[in-house]
Amino acid sequence: MKLSKKKIKLLFLFLIDIIYPNRCACCDKFILWDKLCCENCLKRLKSVEVDKPSPNVDVCCFYYDDIAIDGIVRNKDRNTNFGVYSGMILGHKLRDVKADFVVPVPMYKHKKLYNHAEIIAKIISRMNNIPLKTDILYKLDGAPEQHSLKQAQRSEYLDYFKTNIVNLKGKTIILVDDVVTTGNTMRKCKELLKQNGAEKIISVSVTVSKYR
Ligand SMILES: [Zn+2]
Repeated sequence: MKLSKKKIKLLFLFLIDIIYPNRCACCDKFILWDKLCCENCLKRLKSVEVDKPSPNVDVCCFYYDDIAIDGIVRNKDRNTNFGVYSGMILGHKLRDVKADFVVPVPMYKHKKLYNHAEIIAKIISRMNNIPLKTDILYKLDGAPEQHSLKQAQRSEYLDYFKTNIVNLKGKTIILVDDVVTTGNTMRKCKELLKQNGAEKIISVSVTVSKYR
C-alpha cells in the first residue's frame, strides 16, 4: 500500500499528538489532534469578527478583543494553531487577489528565529499559490517592545525596520501582520517596500483595534 503525501502528514500529526497533545488556539485546553480550536472559542471568536472596514488595514478578521487576544498571545508563544486558523480565514478572503509575493512584517533580523507573523503569511501563501518572501524586510536587534513605548519613542522604534535592496518594480505585495493598532508599523513597512519599487501593497492583519 502506497500512502499519499497528505496521508503521511495526517499520520504524522496523529502520532505527534500522542507525545505533544494538541491544544486549542485560544484557551489552551486539550483538543482532538485534527482540530485547531475548541467549540467554545470558535463561538466566542464569531462575536469579535470585524463588521466594518478599518482605515489602518485593507483585510482583517477579528477585533483585538476578548478571546482573539488570547489566540494572538499563544501564536506569539509558539502554539501556532491560531496563526494557522486565522491564516486560513485571511487566505480565503484574499482568494481573488492577484499578487506577486506575500511578505510578513519582520520580527528579527535573523531569519531562523520564530516569527509569528510568518506563520500566518505562510498559510496565505500556500492557499493562494503566491510565493512567500522573508528576505526583503528585517528588524534590527535590540528594538524595544512596542507597547511599552511612549508616543515620541514610537517613531524611533520604527527606525529599527529595514529593507534589503530587492527589485520590486511593478510588483503587488500582500503584507501580513498579526496585530494592527495605529497602523504605524504597516505604514513603515509599506514605505520600505515602495522604496524598492513595489507598485501596490495590500495590508493584511489578523486583528485590528476597534475603530469608532
Ligand atoms: Zn478554546
